[in-house]
Amino acid sequence: MAPKRDYYEILGVPRDATEGDIKKAFRQLAFKYHPDRNRDDGAEAKFKEVNEAFEVLSNPDKRARYDRFGHIDTDGFATRGFEGFDFGGFGDIFDAFFSGMTHAHRQAPQRGADLHYQTTISFEEAAFGCEKEIEIKRTELCTSCRGTGAKPGSQPARCPDCNGSGQVRHVQRSLFGSFINTTICSKCQGEGQVISEPCPQCQGNGLEKQSRRISVKIPAGIPADTQIRLSGEGDVGVRGGSPGDLYVTISVRAHEFFVRDGDDILYELPINFAQAALGDEVEIPTLHGNTKLTVTAGSQTGKEFRLKNKGIPHLRRHGQGDQIIKLRVVTPDSLTKEQRRLFKELADSLDPMKKGSKKRES
Ligand SMILES: [Zn+2]
Ligand SMILES: [Zn+2]
Repeated sequence: MAPKRDYYEILGVPRDATEGDIKKAFRQLAFKYHPDRNRDDGAEAKFKEVNEAFEVLSNPDKRARYDRFGHIDTDGFATRGFEGFDFGGFGDIFDAFFSGMTHAHRQAPQRGADLHYQTTISFEEAAFGCEKEIEIKRTELCTSCRGTGAKPGSQPARCPDCNGSGQVRHVQRSLFGSFINTTICSKCQGEGQVISEPCPQCQGNGLEKQSRRISVKIPAGIPADTQIRLSGEGDVGVRGGSPGDLYVTISVRAHEFFVRDGDDILYELPINFAQAALGDEVEIPTLHGNTKLTVTAGSQTGKEFRLKNKGIPHLRRHGQGDQIIKLRVVTPDSLTKEQRRLFKELADSLDPMKKGSKKRES
């Protein structure tokens, strides 16, 4: 493999170039070598090289690492040498690099896991808000050892192999010099402490599952399938990490005759022929109690009435939606003798209109 060119050289900027200088140089070169504009041999390779250099130098972390260690490729070969380290063996650089990182990861505080639950409430509860108790299972600190993992009365001890640091340094000697290889302490798995007498309740891991009843405040006007986050109610964190969150998804049961449309409520009102033709005053259910609606004479199926402010309260603000009432004129499917006679009488008196509608039908 040909040695890599220096990233600063590729972009033509000094080592102390500012972020602005780097961006400017990159734009110029990327434009110059872009394969769509530049069909010269090698332009594409140059373009890739410029991109790679920019990718590293534009990221402060990557740039700092590059400044210290030079190129680190997948074969682990560093072209600029390790400052402060002699190294032998290409793979060791990676090992050193990543075991160090794994170690930092292992011993760092770890946030607890988020939990997800689901609960179902009624249409009315969604409209007016409510408080629901849910039962969850979550990981908490062991009540017996309070999370230490050591048998009550005993204490975890500092790990004798790593002296509490959680990592062990090995010096490797090679033809090229010595190399310090840092790995996670195998005795304590990087924890820095060992438990000689594990807590019998949690087998030494310091954690246990608990059932908890948690009260969830559900605000008025909540839409169906909303997720509520209860901060810090998830699994406990490890090594002082913060606890996770609890997410509760709120499902809403369908109502017997109301349908929600945003904060409005749709309600279909069935009426008979006579009510439609003559008009009527009808009692209507609303979420806020029954109310009277005047159906005007000559109303057709599909006619809508709007009851202002009889809908669902707006979520976290004042006011509420409306109730929209849609008429449906219902044709009777069974008639008494008397009703039949009356309908016939009516039909005769409506004769001219009947003929007209027959014509329309044909
Ligand atoms: Zn315990
Ligand atoms: Zn150790």
